[in-house]
Amino acid sequence: MNKKTFYIESLGCKVNQYESDGIAAQLEAHGFSRADKGSPADICIVNTCAVTSRAGMQSRQETRKLIREHPDATVIVTGCHAQTDPEQFKKISGVDLIVCHQDKPLIPAYLTRESPEKNLFEFRKPEYGKSACFVGFGEADRPVSGKMTRAYLKIQDGCNQFCTYCIIPYARGASVSMPFDQVMAHVASLNGQGFKEVILTGIHTGLYGLDLKPETSLTQLVQTLDENKPVDQIRISSIEPNEITDDLIKMARPGHILCDHFHIPLQAGDNGVLSRMKRPYSVEQFSDVIHSIHETLPHAGIGLDVIMGFPGETEKAFENTYKLVAALPVSYLHVFPYSPRQGTPAWHFTPKVASDTAKKRAALMRELGEQKRSTFIESNQGRVLKGLIQNQRDRRTGMLKAVTTNYLTVLIEDKGDAHGNPGSLKGKIVNIKYDQCPNGNCLVGSIVP
Ligand code: SF4
Repeated sequence: MNKKTFYIESLGCKVNQYESDGIAAQLEAHGFSRADKGSPADICIVNTCAVTSRAGMQSRQETRKLIREHPDATVIVTGCHAQTDPEQFKKISGVDLIVCHQDKPLIPAYLTRESPEKNLFEFRKPEYGKSACFVGFGEADRPVSGKMTRAYLKIQDGCNQFCTYCIIPYARGASVSMPFDQVMAHVASLNGQGFKEVILTGIHTGLYGLDLKPETSLTQLVQTLDENKPVDQIRISSIEPNEITDDLIKMARPGHILCDHFHIPLQAGDNGVLSRMKRPYSVEQFSDVIHSIHETLPHAGIGLDVIMGFPGETEKAFENTYKLVAALPVSYLHVFPYSPRQGTPAWHFTPKVASDTAKKRAALMRELGEQKRSTFIESNQGRVLKGLIQNQRDRRTGMLKAVTTNYLTVLIEDKGDAHGNPGSLKGKIVNIKYDQCPNGNCLVGSIVP
């Protein structure tokens, strides 16, 4: 029996977290056991992120820290930063192995060999038009973490869009989708494990199915899920505006499977900036999409990603973005200052926006995001919301925490079941009304029939 322990540090997005859990599940299946953060471990794996220069720096810092804390451990780095910039990790003394995206499923084979051979791996960079990725870990597919209430399922990887600021297509290669039947089987199996909600996730989830034979689409997948209902609810982690179809919006109406929550990257609300970013839509098209969601689903949660300080973003261009967002019926914003990534076209774009200016614009945009959030919360007052009670309680109050279909978090007093047993509602979908918003940040409500 293998008694070795491992620890995985995962940086960046949900896809990375999902893949880290896939590696962990595989290692556990080979008899390794998971060590907690800060406990001794024989193997340390860092799943790195490259989305911003800060994320890259944090990935290197984490690697050095783990080497210091575990001087005798085997240290493996993988993920997007290791993929795009392996030289940075070759320079770190104590790194034993750099694993490219494609070879992540081989990590247990490497660790269980009698005499580990590094040449099991051939470090490959993605070739243009080819995927560097794989979509699932086969039998080892599992939700993000054992404590999570909502299961993530990665159905797609890679991206073909090459937005000028983004390093991801260079790290993960072209889009690749999990076969349709496999998605259906995974969703059913997650439901069998007790999950009421599955979050479909990917690097560019809206490209789902376009590489499959026969070709299919995200809309068709959700339609089939809607017809067969293998699980109570489905959420899409993030979707590009030009991939939101009318049929998809209709499947988020009450009685259907899709949650009325759309997280959409806007990035900029100025046509000049959008075109330099090589985003495939105009401000007018973006605005039409948001209005069609709002017309069909007036209480849908709509979140936007916005980048501030992209090269050439003038004061006027910033005002255009601000005015557009202010006018749209959206419920929250994720605001990111632009982070130049070497190897992308935008790295060479001028004029650069001074970092102070980008920070000021980001602060103004975040303030606007708070106003949007308050307006959205108010617009839900008095409504009956459908919410999934999370396994983890609110840390501060110890109350139960429900996440609604339109992505509000509501705290609820735990009255237990008919026999007064606490926690019996965890993992259940209930009807909720919120009656208080004590500090503008958390909602407190109660269960209604
Ligand atoms: S759509 Fe654009 S921003 Fe998103 S992963 Fe692809 S290239 Fe990057």
